[in-house]
Amino acid sequence: MNKYDYLIVGSGLFGAIFANRAKQKGKKCLVIDKRPHLGGNVYCEKIEGINVHKYGAHIFHTSNKEVWDFVNSIVPFNRYTNSPIANYKGELYNLPFNMNTFYQMWGVTTPEEAKAKIEEQKAEAAKRLNGREPQNLEEQALVLIGKDIFKKLIKEYTEKQWGRKCTELPAFIIKRLPVRMVFDNNYFNDKYQGIPIGGYNKLIEGLLEGVDCLTDTDFFNSEYRDWQKYANKLVYCGPLDQYFDYKYGKLNWRTVRFETETKDCPNYQGNAVVNYTSREEPYTRIIEHKHFEMFGQEVYDCPKTVISKEYSSEYKDGMEPYYPVNDEQNNFLAEQYRKLAEQESDVIFGGRLAEYKYYDMAPVIEKVLNLKMI
Ligand SMILES: Cc1cc2nc3c(=O)[nH]c(=O)nc-3n(C[C@H](O)[C@H](O)[C@H](O)COP(=O)(O)OP(=O)(O)OC[C@H]3O[C@@H](n4cnc5c(N)ncnc54)[C@H](O)[C@@H]3O)c2cc1C
Repeated sequence: MNKYDYLIVGSGLFGAIFANRAKQKGKKCLVIDKRPHLGGNVYCEKIEGINVHKYGAHIFHTSNKEVWDFVNSIVPFNRYTNSPIANYKGELYNLPFNMNTFYQMWGVTTPEEAKAKIEEQKAEAAKRLNGREPQNLEEQALVLIGKDIFKKLIKEYTEKQWGRKCTELPAFIIKRLPVRMVFDNNYFNDKYQGIPIGGYNKLIEGLLEGVDCLTDTDFFNSEYRDWQKYANKLVYCGPLDQYFDYKYGKLNWRTVRFETETKDCPNYQGNAVVNYTSREEPYTRIIEHKHFEMFGQEVYDCPKTVISKEYSSEYKDGMEPYYPVNDEQNNFLAEQYRKLAEQESDVIFGGRLAEYKYYDMAPVIEKVLNLKMI
């Protein structure tokens, strides 16, 4: 049997882009994934004709033209612009913090008035500290933005996200709280953003066209564990600690639980993303998936809608690992594993699980496009 050039474990963006680039260079790849589908976390499930982001809402954004041109060469992207809404006990605010938010919060109509209000509240918080450094996230946020925005848009939302009180969270989590003194609800500062037309599965299908792929195939419980029999090199996108059989212990993660429901109406909340910033609701956000890809009348042409409530949760074995916990202990452990990884010749560790690093989609793509060894 002729060996593959690469066995790629994981068909998420890292694995799929790697396979695509390798194929362009005449290399033969086999991609395996333990899930019943390809695409990793960008995979979408079709429900009622709507692409439902099964592993959490994914909005593509970048300022890197090479990355943008590359993904658009596989599938064109639409003009979706992320402009989330915050719901605090029924009061609605635009995000990110901008002139619309300040108008909704205080009735101020000019940047001058908004600045004055924020400065007044920041000064109050600084006075209370009486010259000492902020000791926790609550004190830090209060000196950065003042009490009103903190109370309605940050405090309880952050507590739901982390499962801890803001007074018990370290100050360094919030380094800056940018405000925009213009009426601009576009969440991202990047030059380009959007969603692949037809959904993310089209992007993955395009990337993996002509590449051998196997789903429902777990690297650790299949013949591919002896990968040298099948390929000259291994590209590993699974969890870093698992590759080394957890020899130093397990890396910790935060996860998100999704409750997805089909609603018998065409338009449930009028926006793709609504953040629930009060503790009254146990979930952090509701995503209404159709708004990523349907605009104007199209929303009503599709009579039903699908929403997902997101609950931020502590990670336990068997759950989906989503966000690395970058505290001292986990950073130290990850570093130990990375040292082991460096010694594995012929193995490339790549992507969010294998690097134990939070990556947005565009930086993952950029990283693979810049890999010299393919
Ligand atoms: C909730 C959430 C929301 C996000 N939203 C955004 C967003 O809006 N915008 C943005 O730019 N980025 C977003 N991201 C980041 C984005 O998901 C990542 O950049 C992207 O998924 C990274 O791709 P990857 O290939 O590294 O990992 P993944 O997509 O996770 O792929 C890894 C693959 O490896 C497979 N695998 C693992 N172990 C094995 C094994 N033993 N055998 C076989 N296969 C295995 C997994 O099944 C998976 O398919 C979000 C991430 C999360 C968690």
